[in-house]
Formats: sequence, structure tokens, C-alpha cells
Amino acid sequence: TTAAPTNFIRNRILKELEAGQYDEIVTRFPPEPNGYLHLGHAKSIVLNFSLAEEFGGYTNLRFDDTNPAKEEQRYVDAIKEDVAWLGFDWQNECYASDYFETLFEYALHLIDNGLAYIDGQDADAIREQRGTLTEPGTPSPDRDRDPAESRDLFKRMRAGEFEDGAFVLRAKIDMAAPNINLRDPVIYRIRHKAHPRTGTAWCIYPSYDFAHGQSDAIEHITHSLCTLEFEDHRPLYDWLIEHLPVPARPHQIEFSRLNLDFTVLSKRRLTRLVDEGYVSGWDDPRMPTIAGIRRRGFTPDSIRHFCTEIGVTKSESIIPFGALERNLRDDLNARAPRRMGVLRPLKLVLTNFPEGETEWVQAANHPQNPDMGTRKVALTRELYIEADDFMEEAPKKFFRLKPGGEVRLRNAFIIQCDEVIKDEAGNVVELRCSFDPDTRSGQPGADRKVKGTIHWVSAEHAVKAEVRLYDRLFNVPHPAGDKERDFVEHLNPDSLEVLEDARIEAGTETARPGEFFQFERLGYFVPDPDTTTEKPVFNRAVTLRDTWAK
Ligand code: ATP
Ligand code: MG
Ligand code: MG
Repeated sequence: TTAAPTNFIRNRILKELEAGQYDEIVTRFPPEPNGYLHLGHAKSIVLNFSLAEEFGGYTNLRFDDTNPAKEEQRYVDAIKEDVAWLGFDWQNECYASDYFETLFEYALHLIDNGLAYIDGQDADAIREQRGTLTEPGTPSPDRDRDPAESRDLFKRMRAGEFEDGAFVLRAKIDMAAPNINLRDPVIYRIRHKAHPRTGTAWCIYPSYDFAHGQSDAIEHITHSLCTLEFEDHRPLYDWLIEHLPVPARPHQIEFSRLNLDFTVLSKRRLTRLVDEGYVSGWDDPRMPTIAGIRRRGFTPDSIRHFCTEIGVTKSESIIPFGALERNLRDDLNARAPRRMGVLRPLKLVLTNFPEGETEWVQAANHPQNPDMGTRKVALTRELYIEADDFMEEAPKKFFRLKPGGEVRLRNAFIIQCDEVIKDEAGNVVELRCSFDPDTRSGQPGADRKVKGTIHWVSAEHAVKAEVRLYDRLFNVPHPAGDKERDFVEHLNPDSLEVLEDARIEAGTETARPGEFFQFERLGYFVPDPDTTTEKPVFNRAVTLRDTWAK
């Protein structure tokens, strides 16, 4: 593998280290536990962990759990599983909710210094007074409330004396600031809702802006990396850090989010796909979640490599999904044992092969890597080939099997199609072929050239399996970008194809999730967790070539 390409964040850290500004680099990955991680999160994970690792520091996994309305323990569990599966070890498992008491003290500190006040207006009034990009905001009638009175009200808010929305705590910054985030932002709200970790201990919760930077400081994070939509929040991040007695001085740096074509990378939209039943769950193999693409058959290496390869910048772009698939192909091409499988079986009888006999032919597990060894594959009189490897009325350039034509059976010999058997409806149901014994490996005709080679399995020995093929989840490159139509209207109705009558080479049916194969000429396949001893189920992780590129 090539060295990691550098980026503006890494370059900045290199300079800071040279200037002696830091002893170690500490980063955090801060998911809100309100859904599963997706490939966008993977970009952030790889960036945070690899910077800390390179410069001898560490990374915390911090759950940003300040909004009890949507957060659940099952999401915490799934996030931990996914980060670990990607191959990263966090130093500390942290929760913003562990800092609620400290954050409350910090809020009192602002109040006592005349830097925060309790506002009794409702959310609509506050929003209206915020002004616009061209108009300054209007100060709240409560802006000059006496700090002692604010302190008393804030404590009574915490004690549960008031209904949701009765009061909020606002930082007192500048109602005329060009940056609207500095126009006295709300930093605490009343919310009578039990929290997954703190239960009913709290009925006031800090805003994202108030919790995030202070949590960074408490954990001695040096570089707080986030996506570009928080760029406008940085002045507020810095203002809070400067005006609070925090134990460290973290710095926020923003980078552009990952966007991929033909999918959506937003928990809100992915939640809808799950809740409204468009997919089977968060781990549906068509989902761009870590759990989904893991089940589909993507490897941690391919995802990490992809995240490094796309780089880190400040400009938004949409990366082709094919770039991720290319990384998987590169990874699995090197490592996946080769096997034969037939997706849509067509019976083929070798008329000059003795009935009831099994011949064991030698097959390489990897054509370029002899270290991966060989195996014996059963060859019998009755075989299955891929239905679309035969054409009755074949065009000139069709080099697979046609009436009277010849083709080589992979790992075996050359056969000729002598007869085509059809059912009453005219469907081809069986091919009767003869093989040329001289063209077996080691025989004088072994090198005889025919244009096509096809895969096959023994009808007697192969195992019936269900195979699931996946296509793009959406029909348009940027489903979330359509302002007129709901993104779900762009779902691809053919994104899943289930083949119930596939046949796989004997031996592959015992594979379990985590293993992978190349079914020759068809792609890379992995056992799905639905696999049972009675019924193997395989997912196609990716085809052999990029079939998306038009
Ligand atoms: P979503 O918009 O999907 O809900 P989020 O940003 O609200 O995502 P968080 O759980 O708050 O989700 O994100 C955790 C971290 O992952 C944040 O630092 C966030 O900036 C980062 N992140 C989220 N989506 C992307 C993305 N598409 N590309 C890069 N980083 C991302
Ligand atoms: Mg969020
Ligand atoms: Mg978001």
C-alpha cells in the first residue's frame, strides 16, 4: 500500500508539533447515539484515529448524548461494534452526559459573570428576534435580568419547577454580531424526558454547542475535527472556551463531509428507510451503514483504504460509489479463494462421460497465488452451467456455448454442444454435449484454443443456495438533492434480486459470515447471517468489473 496522502489538518499538526505546541495529539470521534454509523462517519473515524495514531496520541470515543429524545442504548452498542470492526481502539469510552454536573457549573459561571441570562420568551419569539444576515437581532426584554435572579431561576429549572419551554438559558454575547450563532444562543433547555444514562436526574439539557467544546476541553482533546456545517459555530466554540474555567484549550477544525452517489449519508434519511420499511433494517446490505456494508461483504481494510484515498479537504464533492467498490475488489482479488458457483442453472449432460462416476479435477484456489493451494472439484456426467452462457441464436461475438459450438469448461476440458432439449413451451431445459478427452490438462490437446471458458458445477455434488444480488439503492446520483420530490421516490425498485435456485461448489456451503470467495466470472460473495446448515445464503458483495460505469 502507498503512504497516506497528507492533508491540511495533518500539515497543520506537523507545524504545531515542530513549534513545540503539543506533546501529544488527542482526538475524539463524537457520534450522537441516535442511529447507526454510515460511511460518512467512517471518514471521520479514520481521520481522527489515524492522526492520533501517527503522532503518538490517542482517540476517545465520545457519545454526544445530550438529547434524550432520540438516543438509545442499542445505538451505543452498535456504534461500538462498528468502530471496533473498522479496526480502531479508542482510549476512553466517554459520554457527554457524564459531564452534566460540570456543564451545569460552567453555566452558573457564565451567569455569575453576567455572560448568560434566563429568557422567559418562547422559541418563536426568540427565533424572530435573531434577525437575518442583513438585519441585526433584537435584544430580549430579559437580556438585562439580574444575574442573581437568573441563577435562582436556573436552579429552579433544574429542580423541575417549570414546564418544557417555560425558560431557556442564553449566552449573552452580541445581538448585532454578523455571525448569527453569536446572537445570544440558547445553551440550556427544559426537557422533562428520561435520559438513557442519567434517567430522571436531569430535566434540563445543554445544547450541542454548549456541551461539545466543553466536553473536548474536559477530555483534553487537542484537535476537535468536525464537518463544515460547524464552521459558523467555531466563533461560539471559541467564545465559550475563552469565557469558562475549562482545563484545556481545544481547537475546532472543519473538513468537508463525505457524499457518495446513488445513496444518502444522513442518519435522518437512513432512519426513514428503516422505519418506513424500505429496507429490512439498519444492516440491510443495500444500506450505506457500516453494519449494512459489512453484511454485504465489505472488508474493514477496503473501507479504511477508501477513506484514506479520498483525502480530507474543505471542498464538497460527491464521490462515486464505484470508488468504494474498487477498493473492495482490490482487497478481495488478492485474498479471496476462487470457487465455482452457478446463479441460474441450466442442466448440461456429458453424453460420453460414464454414468455414476465422479472424477476429481484439480483446481487452483487462486490463479496468481500458488501459496493458496489447490482443491479437488467433482466432475460428473450431469452438470449445471450458467443459463446465460448458452445462446441458441448467438451473435458472432458470442464466445460461450451455442449449438454445434465449442467451449472450455474451467479446470476440465473442451466440450461441444450436440443437442438442445426444450420443454413444451420452447424453453431450453438441457444441453447434451460431448467432451474431448484429449483436451484435459496434461493431455496433448490441453493447449488447444477455444475462444470461451465457462464455469460449471456437478449436478450431483453442488449444493443449492440462495444468492442475493444487489444494485444501487437509488436511481439517481443525488437523491437527497432533489428539492421537488421526496428522496424515497428515487428508490430503485430492483435494488435486490433473490436467486433461490443457485448451485455452489461443494464445500462452500459451510462458510460463515466473515469468510469470502470469488465465484469465478461472477464476483465476490460472502455468506449472509441468514445462512443455516439447511440453506446457505450468499450475498454478492461486488461484481468483478465496474458495472455501474456507463
Ligand atoms: P447525520 O447528519 O448523518 O445525522 P451527524 O453529523 O449528525 O450525521 P453525528 O453522530 O453527530 O452525526 O456525527 C459524528 C461525527 O461524524 C461528527 O464529527 C460528524 O461531523 C461526523 N460525520 C457525520 N457525517 C459525516 C460525513 N458524511 N462525512 C464526514 N464526517 C461525518
Ligand atoms: Mg448530529
Ligand atoms: Mg447531522
